[in-house]
Order: sequence, then C-alpha cells, then structure tokens
Amino acid sequence: MFPDTHIHTNFSKDSQAAPYTQVDRCLLLGMKELCITDHHDYGSDLAGDAFLLDFDTYLPYMRRLRQTYEGRIQVNIGVELGLQLHIRDYLEKLVQNIEVDFIIGSCHFIDNMDPYFPEYFEGKSEREAYEHYFDVTLKRILNLNCFDSFGHLDYIVRYGPHTNINYSYAAYQDYIDPILKALIEKGKALECNTAGFKYNLGHPNPSEDILKRYREMGGDLITLGSDAHAPEYIGYDFEKTRNILTDCGFRYLTVYHQRKPDFIPL
Ligand SMILES: [Zn+2]
Ligand SMILES: [Zn+2]
Repeated sequence: MFPDTHIHTNFSKDSQAAPYTQVDRCLLLGMKELCITDHHDYGSDLAGDAFLLDFDTYLPYMRRLRQTYEGRIQVNIGVELGLQLHIRDYLEKLVQNIEVDFIIGSCHFIDNMDPYFPEYFEGKSEREAYEHYFDVTLKRILNLNCFDSFGHLDYIVRYGPHTNINYSYAAYQDYIDPILKALIEKGKALECNTAGFKYNLGHPNPSEDILKRYREMGGDLITLGSDAHAPEYIGYDFEKTRNILTDCGFRYLTVYHQRKPDFIPL
C-alpha cells in the first residue's frame, strides 16, 4: 500500500479522528509511512481562527506520535497550507520557522469565500466560477513558494451547481495549462487527491486528463493523498489510482521528507 500523504486529524476543525486512529488505520492497510497534513488557513475573515494550527502544540504532539510508532510505521509531519496572496509574507516566513516534512498548498478561500458554500457561486455562471478559481490558483502558484505540492487542483467541481457534468480538461485547457507549466517550472509537485472518488465525481482531483497533460508537459513530481478526515477513507481507491497514474505515464510517486523529494516506484 502506497503512503497516504494527505491525512487530517482532529487538529483540523473538520475532522473528529484522533491522530493515533489515523496512524493505526495506515498500519492496518500495510503502509510503511504516511503524512499527516492538518489545515492551516490563515488570513480569512470568514474562517476566523477555525482552521488555524497552533504549531507550538501540533509539532511536538506529532513528533511524539512519530516516536510512539517508530519501527512500525513512519509518521511524517506535514501541513495543508491555505494559499492566499495577501498573506504572502506571513506564509513565506512561517514555512522558514516550522520543521515539517511536507507542505501541501491548497486554494480553499477565493475572495474570502469558500467554494464549499453556495455563496461562492452566487452571481456567477458555473463556468465563470470555475474560471475564476483557476485564475486565482495560477496567480497564487506563480507568486508563492511556501509549498511542496499543490493540493486537489480542480476540486472546485465537487461543489459547482452541476458538479463535473459540464467540466473537462479540454473545456478549461487555457486555464489549466498555465497552472501545470508554473508548477513544473517552479519544481513543485502536483497532488493526485483521491477524494474525488469519495465525492462521486468518478475521477480523482485533478482528473485523469490533467494528470496526463502534466506528465506530457514534463511534470514528474506527483504526490498521492486521500484527504481522509476519518479512518475509513485513508488510502481511498489507491489501487485504482495507481493504474490511472501508470496509464498517464508516471513511474514514481513522490514523498517528501524534511521537504526533500524521495521517490517510490509505482
Ligand atoms: Zn484541502
Ligand atoms: Zn485536506
């Protein structure tokens, strides 16, 4: 079983899972390592401090957890960082000061709204809403360096009025290609997030065509995560996703240790 490198625990407001239950599940599934990546979304009036990590508590706790499981499974320590441009200095400084293995950069807040809520889609056509998300995403990737892998690209389609029914890579190619190009040029990884299957999209985020395009353009840093907020979703559809990734031309998964990439054959 491949390492799951996108796992939440009750350090995230939207998860009830005790950290040890998440690690136990990984052990049971036969993983040799995993990465816990709880939310840190700073600079949102909407969320307030709901998705802020207290790193002075979180990091020592995770180091103790890692020690507890030593010799059985390797617990890597990560964070899922909410990317926003108005907090650029804060983010770049923060990542210099925290000792973690892996940082996922995600776009959770757009114009201080969360696409998870219908408010984001009000007054916009679905296409405009998706285009705007990709536009904002590109600007953030171009202007921020504080992450290792970009999380769940295109996950906005989970929440659109018609989800992914009218959505395809081809329909948004002009928006998506520059994002992939920016990631490749900056040496950042792209995450393959299997929660898309859990949300009944029938695809990972990003979808297969985008994964394939990233590979065609020369992208080879791919990280794999379930985005599990509960133990039953850890490693979700990883076997199916392995075939998707090899069909797209990937030969290795990337896992980060002390923010340096290591490679696991697919
Ligand atoms: Zn996320
Ligand atoms: Zn997540």
